[in-house]
Amino acid sequence: MDFELNEEQKMFQAMVRDFVDNEIAPNAAEWDDTEEFPHGTVKKMADLGLYGLHMPEEYGGSGDDLTFVIAVEEISRGCAGLAASYVTTLSLAMNPIVMHGSKEQKDRYIPWVMQGANVSFGLTEPMAGSDVSNIDTRYERDGDYFILNGSKIFITNGAEADFLVTFATHDRSLGYKGISAFIVERGMQGFSVGKSERKMGMHPASATELVFDNCRVPARNLLGQEGRGFSIALQAIDTCRVCVAAQAVGIAQAAYDAAVAYAKERKQFGVEIARHQGIQFMIADMAVDLDAARLLTYRAAWLMQTSGEVSLKEPAMAKLFATEAAHRICHRAVQIHGGYGYTREFVVERLYRDQRITEIYEGTSEMQRWTIARQITAAR
Ligand SMILES: Cc1cc2nc3c(=O)[nH]c(=O)nc-3n(C[C@H](O)[C@H](O)[C@H](O)COP(=O)(O)OP(=O)(O)OC[C@H]3O[C@@H](n4cnc5c(N)ncnc54)[C@H](O)[C@@H]3O)c2cc1C
Repeated sequence: MDFELNEEQKMFQAMVRDFVDNEIAPNAAEWDDTEEFPHGTVKKMADLGLYGLHMPEEYGGSGDDLTFVIAVEEISRGCAGLAASYVTTLSLAMNPIVMHGSKEQKDRYIPWVMQGANVSFGLTEPMAGSDVSNIDTRYERDGDYFILNGSKIFITNGAEADFLVTFATHDRSLGYKGISAFIVERGMQGFSVGKSERKMGMHPASATELVFDNCRVPARNLLGQEGRGFSIALQAIDTCRVCVAAQAVGIAQAAYDAAVAYAKERKQFGVEIARHQGIQFMIADMAVDLDAARLLTYRAAWLMQTSGEVSLKEPAMAKLFATEAAHRICHRAVQIHGGYGYTREFVVERLYRDQRITEIYEGTSEMQRWTIARQITAAR
């Protein structure tokens, strides 16, 4: 058993860390304030090859699952909102195209993403959140087109996406078997971006409504087989789970670093607060949580790349633990900063807000517990 990254992974980690420290972290507070998407930084990330990670080698992509997780962790450490957009594009939205796309679809969309395109994954609807099979967006065939009608909510990258993967049902009475997946490009007739949510955190990444009003999608943009959309959606979510765990680890690392530095600096009762046992115990608990979260996350990524399969239990365990550990770590980081931690002058205030969604999207903590328990009880 080897707990070390290999030399190539270490060099990659150092390169991304350097980029994050110079190009991302110094701007994160401003992006949080303005809620603007950093298109220029995404272009630089693409130039660096970060949008080729997780893409097939035959298209010039590179990097195994663990390398991708390292990138997500580092970007999240600098700006979790940008990382949310990055993960949505490269994993959640592109996995269905990489895994189920036709050659024509891959030829068109993979090189586009590698140049820094933004992509959305449009599944959630007002009445279909955790219960994703309950979607009500409809489609019907009209010659060489599919006609989509309905709307999606809370869609990351909605405002910026160049194209998106979305899901609609042909016949609700068929349940999940009636659902198909489609690729919709910005500018297609009948597609528009609706209301943009004002969120607690992750400000640089938009979360919007998407509206399909007799949206005409060319038949060639059907993704995978008709009627297989539900399993395509679940596979994308299952594959992406480890990335959300990595987001949480990155946010938690930033909160931990800030808290330790502050505790060594701030003096009360004549000594640095790091010398008070109450603070020391918090720091010890944060260090244990952070280590355990990272180990579970790396193990899940390692399992995916060595088995070549998407297991359910270990990524769910990693997401559940890492996101809830990040919650505890951010909470303690604010506590260690006292009143200053409640102000926008200190990074822990933003991290505390950004962290919260990791326990909700791509399967709430309750859904992760359900997945883990089903795997355990089904194995008996
Ligand atoms: C900022 C943001 C970005 C997002 N990005 C995307 C995106 O890019 N694409 C996309 O498709 N969606 C996206 N979502 C949607 C997100 O995935 C859903 O919000 C999430 O899956 C939960 O669904 P819901 O909000 O409808 O909550 P609900 O499903 O209504 O859940 C409400 C509560 O009930 C609990 N619950 C539900 N069912 C059960 C059960 N069987 N047992 C126990 N507890 C249960 C849940 O755990 C939760 O605590 C995003 C959401 C946000 C806020």
